[in-house]
Amino acid sequence: MTGPEHYRQAEWLLDRAHYFTYGDGLDVAQGHALAAEAQAHATLALAAATAMHADIAASAADIRDARLDEWIKATSSTTCAECDHPVPAGSAYCSALCRNAADDHGADEPAGGDE
Ligand SMILES: [Zn+2]
Repeated sequence: MTGPEHYRQAEWLLDRAHYFTYGDGLDVAQGHALAAEAQAHATLALAAATAMHADIAASAADIRDARLDEWIKATSSTTCAECDHPVPAGSAYCSALCRNAADDHGADEPAGGDE
Protein backbone atom coordinates (compact mmCIF):
# COMPACT_ATOMS: atom_id res chain seq x y z
CA MET A 1 0.00 0.00 0.00
CA THR A 2 1.38 3.45 -0.90
CA GLY A 3 1.34 6.46 1.43
CA PRO A 4 -1.67 8.05 -0.28
CA GLU A 5 -3.50 4.71 -0.15
CA HIS A 6 -2.81 4.46 3.59
CA TYR A 7 -4.09 8.04 3.96
CA ARG A 8 -7.34 7.32 2.11
CA GLN A 9 -7.81 4.06 4.03
CA ALA A 10 -7.32 5.91 7.33
CA GLU A 11 -9.92 8.50 6.35
CA TRP A 12 -12.42 5.84 5.33
CA LEU A 13 -11.87 3.80 8.51
CA LEU A 14 -12.14 6.93 10.65
CA ASP A 15 -15.47 7.72 9.04
CA ARG A 16 -16.70 4.17 9.76
CA ALA A 17 -15.35 4.38 13.33
CA HIS A 18 -17.33 7.56 13.92
CA TYR A 19 -20.46 5.96 12.51
CA PHE A 20 -20.18 2.90 14.79
CA THR A 21 -19.21 4.89 17.87
CA TYR A 22 -21.57 7.86 17.65
CA GLY A 23 -23.87 7.35 14.66
CA ASP A 24 -26.57 4.89 13.77
CA GLY A 25 -24.19 1.94 13.91
CA LEU A 26 -24.05 2.08 17.71
CA ASP A 27 -21.46 -0.64 18.23
CA VAL A 28 -18.84 1.07 20.34
CA ALA A 29 -16.45 -1.93 20.40
CA GLN A 30 -16.52 -2.06 16.59
CA GLY A 31 -16.04 1.71 16.47
CA HIS A 32 -12.97 1.48 18.70
CA ALA A 33 -11.47 -1.33 16.63
CA LEU A 34 -11.97 0.69 13.44
CA ALA A 35 -10.46 3.78 15.08
CA ALA A 36 -7.36 1.80 16.09
CA GLU A 37 -6.98 0.48 12.54
CA ALA A 38 -7.45 4.00 11.16
CA GLN A 39 -4.68 5.23 13.47
CA ALA A 40 -2.29 2.56 12.17
CA HIS A 41 -2.97 3.54 8.54
CA ALA A 42 -2.55 7.24 9.40
CA THR A 43 0.82 6.49 11.01
CA LEU A 44 2.00 4.54 7.94
CA ALA A 45 0.83 7.38 5.67
CA LEU A 46 2.84 9.83 7.79
CA ALA A 47 5.94 7.61 7.62
CA ALA A 48 5.64 7.38 3.83
CA ALA A 49 5.16 11.15 3.46
CA THR A 50 8.14 11.83 5.73
CA ALA A 51 10.36 9.43 3.76
CA MET A 52 9.27 10.99 0.47
CA HIS A 53 9.99 14.49 1.78
CA ALA A 54 13.44 13.42 2.95
CA ASP A 55 14.10 11.81 -0.43
CA ILE A 56 13.15 14.98 -2.30
CA ALA A 57 15.44 17.05 -0.08
CA ALA A 58 18.28 14.54 -0.50
CA SER A 59 17.82 14.43 -4.28
CA ALA A 60 17.96 18.22 -4.51
CA ALA A 61 21.19 18.24 -2.53
CA ASP A 62 22.54 15.11 -4.27
CA ILE A 63 22.93 13.38 -0.95
CA ARG A 64 22.10 9.70 -0.74
CA ASP A 65 22.05 7.79 2.48
CA ALA A 66 21.59 4.04 3.01
CA ARG A 67 19.14 4.64 5.85
CA LEU A 68 17.02 6.93 3.65
CA ASP A 69 17.17 4.39 0.82
CA GLU A 70 15.84 1.75 3.20
CA TRP A 71 12.81 3.95 3.94
CA ILE A 72 12.20 4.78 0.30
CA LYS A 73 12.53 1.11 -0.62
CA ALA A 74 9.96 0.19 2.02
CA THR A 75 7.47 2.77 0.78
CA SER A 76 8.05 2.46 -2.96
CA SER A 77 8.45 -0.30 -5.53
CA THR A 78 10.23 1.88 -8.11
CA THR A 79 13.99 2.14 -8.67
CA CYS A 80 16.05 4.85 -10.36
CA ALA A 81 16.25 4.55 -14.15
CA GLU A 82 20.00 5.23 -13.98
CA CYS A 83 21.16 3.31 -10.92
CA ASP A 84 19.53 0.91 -8.46
CA HIS A 85 18.52 3.41 -5.76
CA PRO A 86 14.84 3.34 -4.84
CA VAL A 87 12.76 6.38 -5.81
CA PRO A 88 9.29 7.52 -4.76
CA ALA A 89 6.48 6.56 -7.12
CA GLY A 90 6.34 9.05 -9.99
CA SER A 91 10.06 9.90 -9.93
CA ALA A 92 12.35 8.53 -12.63
CA TYR A 93 15.73 9.34 -11.08
CA CYS A 94 17.09 9.27 -7.53
CA SER A 95 19.09 12.49 -7.92
CA ALA A 96 20.07 15.33 -10.22
CA LEU A 97 23.35 13.44 -10.74
CA CYS A 98 21.50 10.46 -12.26
CA ARG A 99 19.20 12.74 -14.29
CA ASN A 100 22.27 14.51 -15.73
CA ALA A 101 24.02 11.19 -16.40
CA ALA A 102 20.96 10.00 -18.32
CA ASP A 103 20.97 13.24 -20.33
CA ASP A 104 24.69 12.83 -21.05
CA HIS A 105 24.26 9.46 -22.72
CA GLY A 106 21.15 10.54 -24.56
CA ALA A 107 18.44 8.70 -22.71
CA ASP A 108 15.20 10.34 -23.86
CA GLU A 109 13.07 8.29 -21.57
CA PRO A 110 13.92 6.60 -18.31
CA ALA A 111 13.45 3.12 -19.74
CA GLY A 112 16.68 1.83 -18.19
CA GLY A 113 18.44 -1.37 -19.08
CA ASP A 114 20.80 -0.17 -21.85
CA GLU A 115 24.24 -0.16 -20.25
ZN1 LIG B 1 20.10 7.01 -9.44
